[in-house]
Amino acid sequence: MWQVEASGGGLVTALEPVLRQKGGLWIGWPGVYEDGGLEQALAAKGVEAGYALKGVNLTEEEVGDYYYGFSNEILWPLFHDLQNLCNFDPAYWNVYKEVNAKFAQVIARNVSRLDYIWVQDYHLLLVAKELRNLKVRNKTGFFLHTPFPPLDIFLKLPWRRQVLQAMMEYDLLGFQTARDRNNFLQCVESLIKGVQHDARRQVSTIARPERELKVGSFPISIDFGQFARDASQELVAQRAWDLCQAVPDRQIILGVDRLDYSKGLPQKLQAFRYALEQYTDLQEKVTLVQVVVPSREDIPEYQELREEVEGLVSEINGRFSRWAWVPVHYMYRNLPRMELLAYYRAAAIALVTPLKDGMNLVAKEYCAANVDRNGVLILSEFAGAAVQLRGGSLLVNPYDVESTAQAIYQAFIMNTNERRSRMKRLRSSIRARDIYWWVDFFLREARVT
Ligand code: UDP
Repeated sequence: MWQVEASGGGLVTALEPVLRQKGGLWIGWPGVYEDGGLEQALAAKGVEAGYALKGVNLTEEEVGDYYYGFSNEILWPLFHDLQNLCNFDPAYWNVYKEVNAKFAQVIARNVSRLDYIWVQDYHLLLVAKELRNLKVRNKTGFFLHTPFPPLDIFLKLPWRRQVLQAMMEYDLLGFQTARDRNNFLQCVESLIKGVQHDARRQVSTIARPERELKVGSFPISIDFGQFARDASQELVAQRAWDLCQAVPDRQIILGVDRLDYSKGLPQKLQAFRYALEQYTDLQEKVTLVQVVVPSREDIPEYQELREEVEGLVSEINGRFSRWAWVPVHYMYRNLPRMELLAYYRAAAIALVTPLKDGMNLVAKEYCAANVDRNGVLILSEFAGAAVQLRGGSLLVNPYDVESTAQAIYQAFIMNTNERRSRMKRLRSSIRARDIYWWVDFFLREARVT
């Protein structure tokens, strides 16, 4: 008997409410290898969710080479500028192509003539090309949730031309920020002959003999209203109060990150350690609550990262702990949504310091859930969210341990008036451009609404 549950991560958080509101069909890998009875379970879950679900079955070998391999040992590190972590194994490329073709086949079997096909993220860069091979003529759009790297980094990809050419088979390509979009356009200009575009607008057009390709930046967001409403619930308020009471007279600094080297966890812990050393009045007055959500545990780099993070946590705690004060509360698990909201509400400071991130939804969720409007957001300048949130947050370079430590101290001593006015700005900018704004903007450019 199957129990169907959504997986974690920013993509699902962002898109689930949209599909629930608009309806549609979500096609994806169901995350399991046996499929006896799965189709019925997905259908039943679809009725409950308000949109249909269809699985693409993959073998264990395919998941190894396509998902862990090409997607997460090549594209993920490369797109986060971490080229030294890439494993350019040629076997991965073939399986990546085959699996993209498999997705295209399932799509082709399930679409009607007028359906819009919206493909999500770096795992499926080649789907539009495969759909064209299958003579599917529906309009297609693609949104990349990760960053897109600058030319000198993208050039390292052995299949760089094939990937770019396949991406150009979509009708609309969406990136998180203008920087990502410009990086893509620069790669196209340099690698594909005779391409002309007009890059002055947020959505620019590449004229091609067969058809027009639009390329734009569409910063993804969250269901602000839902987060704010849920965070205001009595249950969450009570839990947040309990969390604060458990560390009386202390400010909670919160970190919520998937276990991933792009999240800059070791650098964050080093900055926190440096802050405790340099600004000694922080000692016994702050508690760093660091939630690490397990991720991609089959990849060796992720296991090593976990050891490094846990080593730093125990070093900091061993060195600074006092009677009834432990500087870092570390949790390696998934939190239930209500618990996560209570942590967001209880935290006086959020420390969101990825080395590079497509957007970073945790930053936006923290602000939406901060219904008391007295939290401070410390945010990496290399998160896509920094473009929109630079006004109200304290921006830091996560590689700069000294300045990050200084920002922690600045947040700690920030007075209530400044906290409130910064948080007000952050909340109103996220409210104005929430997930429904994002989806309408994308679909308007795609000319399907
Ligand atoms: N999240 C989760 N479980 C948790 C903590 C957080 O599913 O225990 C969610 C969080 O609410 C957010 C997402 O994971 O929506 C993380 O998205 P983000 O864009 O910050 O990073 P990603 O993991 O997608 O790289």
